[in-house]
Amino acid sequence: MGLDAFVRCNCFEEHKLKPGPVPYEDLYIDADGYLSSRKLDSMWQKYDFAGFDARYGELQDQFMDWRESCCEHEDCKYCNEWVSNWAGVMRFNYLVETFGGKEKYPLLSTLLPSANGGYYPLEKAEATLLELDDFLSHVVKHAETRLFRAETNEMIQYIDKEKSPWSEMIISSIDIADGKVKFTDFAKKDTYSNHFKIIFSTEKVISQKYGEIGIYGCEIHLLDQGKTIVLSNYYGSRPSIMESEYLFKTGPARFLYEGKYPTGERIKNLLVASLETGNPIVWC
Ligand SMILES: [Zn+2]
Repeated sequence: MGLDAFVRCNCFEEHKLKPGPVPYEDLYIDADGYLSSRKLDSMWQKYDFAGFDARYGELQDQFMDWRESCCEHEDCKYCNEWVSNWAGVMRFNYLVETFGGKEKYPLLSTLLPSANGGYYPLEKAEATLLELDDFLSHVVKHAETRLFRAETNEMIQYIDKEKSPWSEMIISSIDIADGKVKFTDFAKKDTYSNHFKIIFSTEKVISQKYGEIGIYGCEIHLLDQGKTIVLSNYYGSRPSIMESEYLFKTGPARFLYEGKYPTGERIKNLLVASLETGNPIVWC
């Protein structure tokens, strides 16, 4: 499932193929980039499946078996890559958009197809490779922040740049900034922490102006600083699920593996192969 791609080898053009079940003169590269037999393809057009199979089924099987190993490259593929599943293709496009979009990466923005099939032209390969190298140099530095429940070391979620896991809940003065959690107290003073415990108070906050205003307080114990601040930002029922000790850790993005972005590396292999062989990338 997903997007595969290959770059064909030149063994056919260089007459490096082992003898096979059809004459060399009968071989050609079809519109989809595969080594094919003119005779078998024309007969395939001429008959329905049963008619073709009765006359040429055996030859077809022999041809396909031969093609698998007719040169030093499996199935005549100089480079053969599983690019990614479709979610990974969307992630690639999202990252291209995030790191510069069409203006900075006009070729990368339209590199991957949205469905299987088609070519990526050789003429664009060199310039695309330059864009890709630049893009990858930024992507491999991408870091993500993860929220853990400290007691169990269970990862709760990945945190986007500005969105805190509490932002859609009741507490509104907890945000994410610079890979840390930012608490804003009554006096609009910001405090940053990566290790803290939230304890909700059952006491309602008393406003000097309005009296009891139906808002409950919560204590934030900043365990990395040894102090406690008080916020007043939840209404009504007590969200006990949030009362916990939390750790924030920033590390390499989840799509990086050993410091590299594998999808990007596979696309790079294909572009390099395209330049080395002079053949286009075939999406499949
Ligand atoms: Zn080959």
